[in-house]
Amino acid sequence: MGAAGEPHAMQLIDEQKRFARNEVVSYFDEVRKLRDAADRGVDEPYHIVSVFGSQSSGKSTLLNVLFHTAFDTMDAQLKRQQTTRGIWLAHTNRVTTTADGDDEATSGTRCPDIFVLDVEGSDGSERGEDQDFERKAALFALAVSEVLIVNIWEQQIGLYQGNNMALLKTVFEVNLSLFGTSQRKNKVLLLFVIRDHVGITPLESLSESLTKELKKVWSTLNKPTDCQDISLYDFFDLQFVGLAHKFLQQEKFTKDVQELGDQFVAPNGIFKPQYHQQLPMDGWCMYADSCWEQIENNKDLDLPTQQILVARFKTNEILNECLEQHFQTFNERIETKKMDKLALIDALRETKSSCLEDYDKLASHYNKKVYLENKEVLDDKIGDNFVPVIDGFMEQLGIKLLNNLTVSAKDPLREGSFIDRLTELQSGILEEYSITLSDFQSCNLLRSTEEGNERFKEFVELTVQDIKQQEIKYILKKIKKNLSFQIKDDTIALLSNPTESVWDHVMQKFNANIDVNLVKYRKDASEDSVGYDFQVGLTSEENDITYQQIRFFAWSILSNVVHDYLKPDTIVSILRDRFENKFRYDDNDSPIMWKNEAQIDESFRIAKEHALEVFNVLCIAKDSNNVEIVPDVDLAEGEDKYDVDSGVYHMERFAHLLNESEKEKVLKQFRRQINVSVIDSKRSIITATTH
Ligand code: GDP
Ligand code: MG
Repeated sequence: MGAAGEPHAMQLIDEQKRFARNEVVSYFDEVRKLRDAADRGVDEPYHIVSVFGSQSSGKSTLLNVLFHTAFDTMDAQLKRQQTTRGIWLAHTNRVTTTADGDDEATSGTRCPDIFVLDVEGSDGSERGEDQDFERKAALFALAVSEVLIVNIWEQQIGLYQGNNMALLKTVFEVNLSLFGTSQRKNKVLLLFVIRDHVGITPLESLSESLTKELKKVWSTLNKPTDCQDISLYDFFDLQFVGLAHKFLQQEKFTKDVQELGDQFVAPNGIFKPQYHQQLPMDGWCMYADSCWEQIENNKDLDLPTQQILVARFKTNEILNECLEQHFQTFNERIETKKMDKLALIDALRETKSSCLEDYDKLASHYNKKVYLENKEVLDDKIGDNFVPVIDGFMEQLGIKLLNNLTVSAKDPLREGSFIDRLTELQSGILEEYSITLSDFQSCNLLRSTEEGNERFKEFVELTVQDIKQQEIKYILKKIKKNLSFQIKDDTIALLSNPTESVWDHVMQKFNANIDVNLVKYRKDASEDSVGYDFQVGLTSEENDITYQQIRFFAWSILSNVVHDYLKPDTIVSILRDRFENKFRYDDNDSPIMWKNEAQIDESFRIAKEHALEVFNVLCIAKDSNNVEIVPDVDLAEGEDKYDVDSGVYHMERFAHLLNESEKEKVLKQFRRQINVSVIDSKRSIITATTH
């Protein structure tokens, strides 16, 4: 009987040769629960042992005594009047050993989990149908177990009695069909248990004759041509044990069983690593199922491929479970917005490594290549999951850095040139961004930093352009403000009290005002060109454009001031002032006292001439070389080049202040006004002399 709490035997393959898929899975689940309850990990080894031999040779009885299992024995079957055929499975982690003492009721000695397969059936020679089952059962047992117990009576040895050797021949043949060609897998131990070994013939000579028989059988096999030289020992290890007669030598039988049990628990005893299937316990059911399916359908059973298929399926399943668990932990732990870099990196690293560790724990015992392949897949998927988080974090960081850049660049207290500082700030934030990305990458949380850095660089470039534009706008605004005041004041001051060379002075002032505002941006003048650099990192072309904008602005101001100011009425009053100054005041600015009309007429003539000396310069802007002043910028940009209203080309419009009819009008008014002045003066003499 199995120890308390352990599952009982179950039928793995029934009479109809059906594999009990669901039942075996739940059977293994029970075992796993036992393992979990005892806190034994997935790493702990497990073993598969099968038994083979003629019917009623005491196989089930031996297994039950040795492994504390509960297989049906013939005695029990007889009671139920039935014989069953099939393969039974029982789990144990107890073996009868010498350490148990004489007490039969003992629960045995602890051993790793062993799954025992008991093959039941009638002897193969009897019916064709049974031969088929026997073959398939042997194939299955070889495919899935580490140790095959071959159970035989002592008296059968040497007799070459049909049954036993036919059975072994079957085992060898199916083995060759499995491994005869290229693929070599783990060896299987053939453990010959000689029953009713009375002891007269020593075990050694029994082993010898058995070995001889085995070799004979082996040599008579039809081997594939490419493995004629292959030896029995390439596939099998052989071991022989004798057991006394269960009923006639009860005590000896018990002791023999105990000694056999010792070998099952001894380190490097019966179970050797080279016998083990390359599958962890969780994969065994699927592997066995799939092996049986191939066998049952008479397909070629290629074990390495089977193991890889199982490994694929299982590691994939484990991968998905681990990933699901990972997503859950991830959602619980990762809060990008609230985490700083170190906390985020720590949390990501931890969730990642704990996921990979979980995977390793469950999957590392499967086929190494498959396990590693899927580990990479898992790693990739975790990486994919991290992408948006890291992107989000980097985006926040990017926004913060760009804000800092904008604020610091405009800092009014900054030292050094704008562009030097901007460049320094720019490389500073690019560096910080790139270091952060590298931190994620060096912790294996990010595959590459290149794309992220590139993208950020583009953003920074745009922001920097923007900051430069704002700075240049600010500079322009300041310059324009100064220029507009200065040009207006200076020009009106000159024009309101003009001389014949007034335009020379206007232009001198005009150019001086531009120079004063631009002097600090002037580059070392080379011989043929004067360049400007506004110190905001513009290209020389952009600097030129900016300079042109300033000139254009200055000219428009000048043009507006001149044209607004020099209206006919203003010109009349300028002429009039000039006349009056000359007419009424002497060179010392004292009012002239008239003595007679002739004196008035003379003064009038001189004053009028004096006033009209500047009339021409107020009608048309010309320098002292008599050259019309033409702006060096196109003030009428976008308009037609010819102005229909004034009849002049736009370029000339600046200089042309009064047209002919306006001139007439000004002169007429001027004359009227000075005539009034003269009459007033003459009247004052008359009044003075008559009183
Ligand atoms: P299985 O068909 O090979 O599983 O054989 P069983 O375990 O059912 O036993 C068949 C019969 O052999 C039963 O009646 C057992 O009592 C008997 N038997 C079991 N062990 C021994 C043994 O060591 N020697 C002898 N002579 N008979 C045994
Ligand atoms: Mg049996």
